[in-house]
Amino acid sequence: MIINCKKIANEIISETKPKVDELHKNGIVPCIAIVMAGNDYASKIYIHNKSKACQKAGIRTREIIFRENISEYELMKSIEKLNNDKSVTGILVQLPLPKHMDEKKVCEIISPAKDVDVFNPINFGNFIIGNTDLTPCTAYGIMKVLKYEQIKISEKHCVVVGRSNIVGKPISHLLLKSDATVTVCHSKTHNLENFCKNADVIVSATGVPKLIKKNMVKNGAVVIDVGINRDENGKLCGDVDFENVEPLCSYITPVPKGIGLVTVAALVHNAMKTACFNLFKNK
Ligand code: NAD
Repeated sequence: MIINCKKIANEIISETKPKVDELHKNGIVPCIAIVMAGNDYASKIYIHNKSKACQKAGIRTREIIFRENISEYELMKSIEKLNNDKSVTGILVQLPLPKHMDEKKVCEIISPAKDVDVFNPINFGNFIIGNTDLTPCTAYGIMKVLKYEQIKISEKHCVVVGRSNIVGKPISHLLLKSDATVTVCHSKTHNLENFCKNADVIVSATGVPKLIKKNMVKNGAVVIDVGINRDENGKLCGDVDFENVEPLCSYITPVPKGIGLVTVAALVHNAMKTACFNLFKNK
């Protein structure tokens, strides 16, 4: 079955909207600032989609687009200003940043209370010890997909391919927390095929087009494809050789219109959560 991620994304947004309405009633107007530097076409589409999704839930957005050659210092100063701006309840820095910038350093300056992407190490640490309401967006979206489709995770063997801080590590953590046995594979893993072949659930987030082939997937497995790549003809594709793998799966997510949609919806959820922090500040 090909999972309808659009439906699940809409559900996340519909669940979020009443909570946003409640914030408005309490005099809090959720507003996220989306900061971008440069002219990258794909990034502009992403920020447009993020803005649209936020607005659907009643969250205001402010798109701030700087020129490509803005200095790292200037960009960080502008983020610091947004940190102190009471009308901004969340901040998102669209990646990638221009090559002359240290993305890690820039993202770390976002106030933990406004960090909708959960990039700040304080938030990431709190996420790992279960001490925050904020969950990294893609991991949140994947767990919603599994829950929506009533896919049992407890006691299952989940193989996560990719160990990035943005996707691989957070989803491994959440699967582990859901009582799965988790194997994390990466670019230095020998015999990836052997690990994947034994998986009840495969989550792939590598950026390698069509890495997961049919000989790596057991019959009836669940395959969650996080990758957003271009194939040899420039066509969008995931990490999974979809055409050949799909017939083997009990569930699979497509690319495009897959995990990307639930990731954006998760961002809307997090934007509501950071706005909620203001509820307590004002009392
Ligand atoms: P990253 O480059 O930070 O990490 C890639 C990971 O894949 C690394 O841990 C690396 O060890 C592993 N890897 C690379 N080649 C491998 C191989 N041949 N075999 C096994 N492991 C390998 O990337 P990221 O930020 O985690 O993103 C991964 C992919 O997911 C990209 O295509 C990105 O565009 C996509 N992505 C999609 C969403 C979404 O919303 N759908 C969100 C974030 C990232």
